[in-house]
Amino acid sequence: MNRARFLIQGIVQGVGFRPFVYGLARRLGLTGYVLNNSNGVEIVLEGPKDRILDFEKQLLSSPPPRARIIQSEKKWEEPVGISEFTIKESCDLDTTYALISPDIATCPDCLKELHDPDNYRYGYPFINCTNCGPRFTITYRIPYDRKNTTMARFTMCPVCQRQYDDPSDRRFHAQPNACAICGPEVILYKNDGTIIETEDPIGSLAMELKRGRSALIKGLGGFHLACDATNSQAVKNLRYHKEREEKPFAIMVPDMEWAESLCELTEADRDLLTCFIRPIVIAPRKPDADICPEVAPGQKTVGMMLPYTPLHHLLMEKVSRPLIMTSGNFSDEPIIYRDDVAKKRLAPFVDYLLLHNRDIYARCDDSVVRTFRDKPYIIRRARGYAPDPLLLPWKSEKTILACGAELKNTFCILKEDRAYISQHIGDLKNPETLDAFRHSLDHFKQIFKLEPEIIAYDLHPDYQSTRFGLEETGDLPKIGIQHHHAHIISVLAEKGIKERVIGVSADGTGYGEDKKIWGGEWLIADFKSFKRLLHLKYVPLLGGDKAVWEPWRMALSYLYPLVGELLVDLPLGCITRVTTENWPVLLKMLRTGLSSPLTSSMGRLFDAVSAILGIRLESHYEAQASMELEQVSEVITDCSYPFEIKGENYPLQVDPAPMIEEILWAVLKKEPVSKIGGIFHNTIALMIREACRRARDESGLNKVALSGGVFQNMLLLNLSADYLEKDGFTVITHSQIPTNDGGISLGQAVIAAEKLKN
Ligand code: ZN
Ligand code: ZN
Ligand code: FE
Repeated sequence: MNRARFLIQGIVQGVGFRPFVYGLARRLGLTGYVLNNSNGVEIVLEGPKDRILDFEKQLLSSPPPRARIIQSEKKWEEPVGISEFTIKESCDLDTTYALISPDIATCPDCLKELHDPDNYRYGYPFINCTNCGPRFTITYRIPYDRKNTTMARFTMCPVCQRQYDDPSDRRFHAQPNACAICGPEVILYKNDGTIIETEDPIGSLAMELKRGRSALIKGLGGFHLACDATNSQAVKNLRYHKEREEKPFAIMVPDMEWAESLCELTEADRDLLTCFIRPIVIAPRKPDADICPEVAPGQKTVGMMLPYTPLHHLLMEKVSRPLIMTSGNFSDEPIIYRDDVAKKRLAPFVDYLLLHNRDIYARCDDSVVRTFRDKPYIIRRARGYAPDPLLLPWKSEKTILACGAELKNTFCILKEDRAYISQHIGDLKNPETLDAFRHSLDHFKQIFKLEPEIIAYDLHPDYQSTRFGLEETGDLPKIGIQHHHAHIISVLAEKGIKERVIGVSADGTGYGEDKKIWGGEWLIADFKSFKRLLHLKYVPLLGGDKAVWEPWRMALSYLYPLVGELLVDLPLGCITRVTTENWPVLLKMLRTGLSSPLTSSMGRLFDAVSAILGIRLESHYEAQASMELEQVSEVITDCSYPFEIKGENYPLQVDPAPMIEEILWAVLKKEPVSKIGGIFHNTIALMIREACRRARDESGLNKVALSGGVFQNMLLLNLSADYLEKDGFTVITHSQIPTNDGGISLGQAVIAAEKLKN
């Protein structure tokens, strides 16, 4: 007889850990107990040594599916002769290291019960168990207990209570446990607020959606606007109401068969679509895909997801076709998650409202992921990922709050070796999003007991996140972090690599140390500091921020140095769109630099080329011009345009002017844009490699980290990584956090931690 005590840390509460341990111990004939303690889960086992070791092996190699064991310790002790295995109640938890699980998609067991007419919860849209269901979005504070969630108002019926109390049951301590008798219910409304009396609200709504009607549907972390994705008119109507946006809409498909029929999927895409996170996966659309073009105008890809709540499963089965499922929000605002706000602001745009009475406490958008070299490449990190911390292989001495960037904002709280990155919050340009930021920050502090001691912020003085960091955090010490330094370190941090590298930040905007707008940068960077070795040659951002939304302005900036005032007569769309009376002031700006700050942005170079090619002169959403340029471009690797690298001293300047000249000629000769776009992408990839070679010559470094929003462009990312690797570089790319500004907060936090060490 032996006795061992295990201390397990990680995501081990609220994910069916104790029932799992209970079952495993009993199967192996071991006695002892399991309980939640201050650091996670504590297990005491008594029995033959080989069986205890077998237990350990099985627990560590295949823990319950949603658990994440970060650390496990074992101690041998003197056996005392326990007669059975029990789950011990634990009270008064110091939950310093306990983690709240992200929300989890409906598990196969619950799904089976949902469809079993003999089951107690047959057809119940809120069925869940310890392996699935809402977590993060319903929890106000720790410990993760029903009374601390939005389920508190529902009193369990005797059946639910019995299961909740039974250690051998799948619903043992499943906090959102509920049934049709005692739990939340769905109600279908007309858009004027009148309740539709029906036995089957989900079925009734499905009928209406099939007839081309639209609906507001309350989900897990917010509201969706929904309509039939195969019905052109229905999608057009929804688009019209959503402020005529052209942004691609995400769709939900009933099952994998549908997913396969719409998109070319790789094995990695399939894994992502079906995993318990259930993100939106962006994949190439098949030519004969049965969805209307209005779903994603100008795009060759579609973002789709599978149902992830029982409500979605029931709805999708009844609709049996893809539905638009786009976040219920207005451009730039965070997703709406409260019933009263949704009713007031979104109801006028739809025919029906499918609501339920389980409140959402934390808003959380759908996550968006694509795959790069068969690994996830996260575009938006939210539902299913947040609030899971990233575990770093080193520790920060202080607790640091990094406020993130302005667009696609997230914040990050770094404590010891854990980086708690918030869910995607959005664009902090308006008060609603800033409120969402504050609410989310308070929530994270609550559920993880975090108290920041140091503030890290972006150098851009006008970012709302910067203002928050400087003005709303009292007299805590503050550290400003350069934007592109943060990008580069964010990719190293997520990979646990702490060394000096060559960093390529291909980005839209980022405040530089010289107060200019950086964004095409080659840095030598470590966690403490960086040196700017090369950058794209500065060009004027014609008319300032307007140029971000009006790519034709960037076309003028790039063309003017080549042709001077002959510009006015070029037979290009980006020129002819300018009215005669506007020319004098534009030319004056080009001649003098008036109202045109200088930028080395890679994103703006893509915008300029998109406009010169006549693909997009004005963008209606961030990076639209660049995205559409990527979509029309062929893959070309045997042809490129010239460019120059200039300068005596660092930083050297990478000058794309010779390329722009060739592109201009090609356009005038009416060469196909797909070809010009393809050669352009190839040229930028070669430019990245050439500049990295210079950086290698200077530094002797051979590792290249790629980050920044422009690397959401998969054509560029693939070409760049291939060229660099063929040239002997080791290439580091993102997989766990976004390459866009959603990753900035992590970079800021780890840089601040390192700078503090002096
Ligand atoms: Zn389940
Ligand atoms: Zn019940
Ligand atoms: Fe950026």
